[in-house]
Amino acid sequence: MQFVVLTIFPAMFDPFWAHGIIRRAIAGQKITAATINIRDFARDRHHVTDDRPYGGGSGMVMKPEPLARAIRAALEKVSSGKTILLTPQGKAFNQQLAQELATLDGLILVCGRYEGIDERICHDLIDYEISTGDYVLTGGELPAMIIMDAVTRLVPGVLGGEDSAAQDSFSNGLLEHAHYTRPPNFEGKPVPEVLLSGHHQEIAKWRRESSLMRTLLKRPDLLLQKDLRPTEIEILQKWGGMIQKIISFYHREHGEHSAENED
Ligand code: SAM
Repeated sequence: MQFVVLTIFPAMFDPFWAHGIIRRAIAGQKITAATINIRDFARDRHHVTDDRPYGGGSGMVMKPEPLARAIRAALEKVSSGKTILLTPQGKAFNQQLAQELATLDGLILVCGRYEGIDERICHDLIDYEISTGDYVLTGGELPAMIIMDAVTRLVPGVLGGEDSAAQDSFSNGLLEHAHYTRPPNFEGKPVPEVLLSGHHQEIAKWRRESSLMRTLLKRPDLLLQKDLRPTEIEILQKWGGMIQKIISFYHREHGEHSAENED
């Protein structure tokens, strides 16, 4: 995977590329990463990349000519690269989109600044418009890093265990199970016993249930979207039955309308 970032602040990416899995992926030639300074493609003496908006109003707009030249230069560098404009108005970035992007050979990430870029750039120089969330940042550099980070860990060979990305939250429509490491007892909180048992099947079963439980508690919306497996339905039914039992017990002990009489 080849990443090329178009930005007016290329130095922001040096520390990002110098750490952790991204650094290792670059060193192991699983990905390449480079920046193009959009200013280098401005032809005036001061390398100006922004101008006042037509129609008036506050803020500046990124000029189309330097940006178009920079994108075309990037397209020459990156064989069969797709161009992504980072914008709060784009498609919401998620794990599924990260998986789609990870199948491509190269990504050219265009970082806006100021009020954004001249609209005419989007007509035929941009393949995808992507947003990292419903908020407005000062520039596209952090979103570009988010996309590079999420996509890189899905490039084959980047993560240690071949299936560790497959287990991640959202990959199978669920949040990932809980994790524990040593010590076995931390401040009076023990690690679930099954995880110390060495019984692989039981551990796998516990993890499936933990994953389902966390999703139910933290992100029930994911369960409504997921094509659940029969085993998952069975677990949910078991919990549903247990919850029903608890409620019936409560009513038996306190009378049918006790919840209404609380205050
Ligand atoms: N005026 C624009 C609007 O309201 O849609 C926002 C411009 S923002 C201040 C400047 C740049 O930051 C954008 O061009 C974009 O590249 C980047 N940006 C800001 N928020 C973003 C987000 N949520 N996702 C992706 N990029 C974002």
